[in-house]
Amino acid sequence: MAVRKEEEQQTQLAGHNDLGHKSLLQSDALYQYILETSVHPREHQSLKELREMTEKHPWNLMATPPDEGQFLSMLLKLMNAKNTMEIGVYTGYSLLSTALALPPDGKILALDVNREYYELGLPIIQKAGVAHKIDFREGPALPLLDELLKDENNKGRFDFIFVDADKDNYLNYHKRVTDLVKIGGLIGYDNTLWNGSVVAPPDAPLKDYVKRLLPHVKELNKYLAQDSRIQICQLPVGDGITLCRRII
Ligand code: SAH
Ligand code: CA
Repeated sequence: MAVRKEEEQQTQLAGHNDLGHKSLLQSDALYQYILETSVHPREHQSLKELREMTEKHPWNLMATPPDEGQFLSMLLKLMNAKNTMEIGVYTGYSLLSTALALPPDGKILALDVNREYYELGLPIIQKAGVAHKIDFREGPALPLLDELLKDENNKGRFDFIFVDADKDNYLNYHKRVTDLVKIGGLIGYDNTLWNGSVVAPPDAPLKDYVKRLLPHVKELNKYLAQDSRIQICQLPVGDGITLCRRII
């Protein structure tokens, strides 16, 4: 039993789990229960369509799982968010979840190096009637953020910023998005438990990309924990999401 548990853990640390889902929950049955009971029955038809389209894409592993989409949507509604930013769009599951949760005059500044991924989901977003809320900009996020920061009016302009792109840049993003989000606003960093690998023993058989980015994820987690500008809360939703409320 103990051996089996260890094997399971090793498989999971290798960058995927054998349970057939993306959640960090160790029980497949329990995760399926959440999906079947609370998530799928409430998932917007367009989100379902976008999710199923993305499941056929080679990088589907990157897509936000639907329970996390549901969580983001709840959060945005509770906050009354209107002006948001997303760094790392892929085919747009979290983007569409956000767009559907925002009021009709809500806005999302969406940044991604890859427009082709975004365009895969775009027809579905258009059909959902929320494309007018999205301002997509193609390119590496860092220079785009620096450009935004040149205009004082952008500082403190955002209610919510979701960071879900290149993990080795999260700390660079953090320094910038903390000035762009308003005091009392929220930043969400995704994948902060990095497939469970944050607790991997040094000799764990990790996938190359997991191993390469792991030090960056750990460094971010440490940094956030001591940053007095923010209040934090790390949740085991999806692959781990750390919420940061800007205090000063
Ligand atoms: N939020 C998405 C998943 C994002 S996956 C969803 O819900 O499905 C990570 C994305 O980050 C990819 O689309 C990738 O193209 C993008 N990315 C990687 N490096 C980037 C960078 N330097 N700047 C902006 N986007 C980047
Ligand atoms: Ca993610």
